Amino acid sequence: MCIFCKIVNKEIPNNTVLENEEFLCFHDINPACKIHVLIIPKAHYDSFDVTPPSVMKGLTAFTHQVAEKLGVKQSGYRLITNIGNDGGQEVPHLHFHLLAGERVGRLVGEK
Ligand code: AMP
Repeated sequence: MCIFCKIVNKEIPNNTVLENEEFLCFHDINPACKIHVLIIPKAHYDSFDVTPPSVMKGLTAFTHQVAEKLGVKQSGYRLITNIGNDGGQEVPHLHFHLLAGERVGRLVGEK
């Protein structure tokens, strides 16, 4: 079972921002900026590449709610989803990174 599935199953603790039956948002353990949260479907999909559009539709609506709850709708935020090896994906469970709270840096990260 992947680490995010263990978080969903409450086998690993998390700092929850928002949750409903299908989706979960929690703080990244190693934040890259002032606000850095992860937004996931509770069901396991390896990455964006294999996630059905119907799930992405729900994830989009949930992400809007997260932005509202974090109070970043006016100031703005960046959404990233890494896909596979060249995308720099470390955890093979679809997730958005939501970065906010300060001006985030260049789009392409360090090597
Ligand atoms: P990615 O490289 O896109 O797969 O991102 C994986 C992210 O998961 C990284 O930013 C990690 O800091 C984060 N992460 C890994 N384990 C945990 C955990 N137990 N709780 C919260 N965030 C985690």
